[in-house]
Amino acid sequence: MKLLDGKLVRDQILAELKPRVDALKNAGCAPGLAVVLVGADPASQIYVRNKVKACHDLGIKSEELTPPASISTDELVAIVETLNQRADIHGILVQMPLPKQIDSRRILQAILPSKDADGFHPCNVGAMVGGLPGPKPCTPAGVMELLARNGITVAGKKAVVVGRSDIVGKPMAMLLLHANATVTVCHSRTADLAAECRQADILVAAIGKAGLIRRDFIKPGATVIDVGMNRLQSEAELEAAFGANSPLLEAFRKKGSLLTGDVHPLEVEHAGAFTPVPGGVGPLTIAMLMSNTVAAAERCSR
Ligand code: NDP
Repeated sequence: MKLLDGKLVRDQILAELKPRVDALKNAGCAPGLAVVLVGADPASQIYVRNKVKACHDLGIKSEELTPPASISTDELVAIVETLNQRADIHGILVQMPLPKQIDSRRILQAILPSKDADGFHPCNVGAMVGGLPGPKPCTPAGVMELLARNGITVAGKKAVVVGRSDIVGKPMAMLLLHANATVTVCHSRTADLAAECRQADILVAAIGKAGLIRRDFIKPGATVIDVGMNRLQSEAELEAAFGANSPLLEAFRKKGSLLTGDVHPLEVEHAGAFTPVPGGVGPLTIAMLMSNTVAAAERCSR
């Protein structure tokens, strides 16, 4: 079984972006990304910190805006509209999830489609469905890069995507379809999930449930892409996901928590290829965010 190394592919993508960033700077159009983080959710703070660091490492100008959790939808729309007007900002990202009082859809729709670094604006979703150019949602786009750069053929293959969210499952299915896979999308109401998954040459798990994908869900030789990121915080949670006396307990005890995907990591040995968690899909999401920002700056500089 081949482990698909997301960090390696991330580094390739970033190395290819570097000369494009330099060219933009030399042309007087340094790419800029604005990241809006509402409130002080610790997980979101880590994601934003990593995104800002990636910008810094690549030479992209980043600006972090941190309005309080009590902000209203109108006030947040006003912040986005100010960023829309700024010539030095080419990409805008509003970190999700937003506090309950905020109308997230209105916020996503307030971002100019040409500055939509996450590819979530309905215009860009429509462009993606139509196979037109534009920013693509970062995680599914990263998965496509991972497959392509590991020489995994998609055309003609049977792909099964578990999860139908707007940010991962649905766009993942669409990108695989455009790459000529025969695609099935599964979700919480799928009648026999294991049987559907067993059909897959390429199985993508984007569920948010630790270890849900077990040995009998995986066809021998399949490529298994684990998008899930689940932080288990207690031994009870670990036991619920992986059973009592799991060998994963040792890793958990060392760190006091365990980051795991949606695929049971000890039941995947018969797959052909597998993305580990961490180190598989995760690193690619930020690389594709950088890619969307550079592409937006290039369009703007033309
Ligand atoms: P959502 O909660 O929005 O969607 C989860 C999907 O899984 C839903 O479609 C849901 O079905 C489906 N689902 C839930 N339980 C089951 C089940 N028992 N059987 C079959 N399907 C089920 O999650 P996201 O798409 O936002 O994220 C999915 C995972 O990916 C999370 O762990 C998240 O942390 C991770 N993630 C990782 C990223 C990365 O960079 N690596 C980036 C983004 C997300 P239904 O629609 O019927 O409710």
